[in-house]
Amino acid sequence: MSKERFKVTYSTLATPDPTLHELYEAAVVRAKANFGKVYPMFINGEERFADKTFDKVSPVNLDWVMGKFQFGSEQDAQDAVAAARAAFPAWSGRPWQERVAIMRKAADLISDRLFDMAANMSLEIGKNRLEALGDVEETADLIRYNCDAIEKNNNFNFTLLSESERHHNRSVLKPYGVWVVISPFNFPGALAGGPAGAALVAGNTVVLKPATDTPLTAWFLTECFRDAGVPAGAFNFVTGSGRVVGQTLIDHPDVDGITFTGSYDVGMHIIRTFANGKQPRPVIAEMGGKNPAIISNKADLDKAALGVMRSAFGLQGQKCSACSRVYVHKDVKEQFMQKLLDLTRQIKVGDPTDKENWMGPAANKSAYEDYQKFAADLRKNGNVAYGGKVLDDAGNGYYVAPTIVDNLPHDHNLWKHEMFLPIVTVTEFEDLDEAMAKANDVEYGLTAGFFSEADDEIQWWLDNIEAGVLYVNRESGATTGAWPGYQSFGGWKGSGSTGKAAGSFYYIQQYMKEQSQTIVD
Ligand code: NAP
Ligand code: MG
Repeated sequence: MSKERFKVTYSTLATPDPTLHELYEAAVVRAKANFGKVYPMFINGEERFADKTFDKVSPVNLDWVMGKFQFGSEQDAQDAVAAARAAFPAWSGRPWQERVAIMRKAADLISDRLFDMAANMSLEIGKNRLEALGDVEETADLIRYNCDAIEKNNNFNFTLLSESERHHNRSVLKPYGVWVVISPFNFPGALAGGPAGAALVAGNTVVLKPATDTPLTAWFLTECFRDAGVPAGAFNFVTGSGRVVGQTLIDHPDVDGITFTGSYDVGMHIIRTFANGKQPRPVIAEMGGKNPAIISNKADLDKAALGVMRSAFGLQGQKCSACSRVYVHKDVKEQFMQKLLDLTRQIKVGDPTDKENWMGPAANKSAYEDYQKFAADLRKNGNVAYGGKVLDDAGNGYYVAPTIVDNLPHDHNLWKHEMFLPIVTVTEFEDLDEAMAKANDVEYGLTAGFFSEADDEIQWWLDNIEAGVLYVNRESGATTGAWPGYQSFGGWKGSGSTGKAAGSFYYIQQYMKEQSQTIVD
């Protein structure tokens, strides 16, 4: 594989280099040649095999068994925590510069393995090539971002005021200990490797439990950490059910902190369960979204339609930041709908490793079944203006049509429930205050978009919308497409537990506890 580095971001993916396509396609061939392999867990620097395995079937084609993964037991999860505990003194005791160097090496290995990781990710979860390349590179960038944050701040070792020349007062940050990372299926690189990398560079030791749908990307990350020189026990990888290995980890008294990314229900369950320990312990929970776009009668409707289409249907609507609700001014609704329909008709759905397909399949069988239930409900209670059906012709996978719904009464629960599928509901409003009230009337507050060419409206919207990540007039994505360092990314309300965002100034500190040290001569 080429050592050449491509700098991939969501914004530069618009005009990719042709070589990028060749390298990706060669990697797809290699990925398919590896179908059916058996993958271990990784505990205390050793491969671990469980009594049972599960098949990872590709949603792209249900005949493709990508690999056999270990169905970890409670004991495996406990052993992983014990290994992380044993490794903590040595890893946290190393000079921070060494941890930074090792984690930068890990980020570089991820970038070196970009194409193989992305090709496998496309097949693993149905992400199109550019999105998969973006996810892998974002993983490396999140790790680099947090290495830079440690370095720029001298590992958060600061001098405090001193009462006299005899007093030497400092504030330092120290790692907590054993950190569990539980990751979702939709960004299997960035949301596993990002938090794991942050926890590690801060000096914690880690147990990673990825989503059952995406163990393969997590295995590639495990290899990168191992090959970069993260010592035995400092990083551990367990696979299997959330209800078995996941639950064991969150029940464990010897875990010091958790980063969870996933649904609201599981996130709240984790927060409550973890609070049952003897001492308070931190949980960074990044949860769901029900992200609105408001389109004023002063909007550029071409920008609005493109932005909504990309955010509603990119990754099959399975981004936490997906645009699932649209409030459009009644005077421009007809025009907006036409533009949105025209763009949506052009979307090609199919094997996401094929260049022409922008949408791949839904992630798994339950998502595919949910889609059909939602479509029936929406057809009954609203007007399905486009889509609403499964696409058997697109291939032997979980293919569904992008779906636009109109005239759904605003008290219908699907205005509030995160469907996590390529379904967007659209309604009109008469005045902006009404649109704002509706946009804010959900448990979630992750991302939001606004389209208007009027400066006073823009400032009003920024002042009043309740969400952590805001975009104005963004045609590349009305509510999606954050990149570390460019957009901080974190949710308000039911979308996040900390009020602090990833890929930003305040993130890495959450993996450490403060200590003040006063020494008197
Ligand atoms: P999910 O169903 O909540 O699962 C997330 C993780 O939790 C998986 O690893 C899952 O394991 C594990 N889990 C399930 N039950 C558990 C338990 N009792 N104890 C411990 N762990 C348990 O989420 P998903 O379907 O993978 O991802 C989609 C969700 O993530 C959406 O709601 C989306 O909005 C959200 N999300 C949020 C952000 C953000 O930054 N705010 C980013 C991405 C995604 P199994 O897979 O084995 O069940
Ligand atoms: Mg789920």
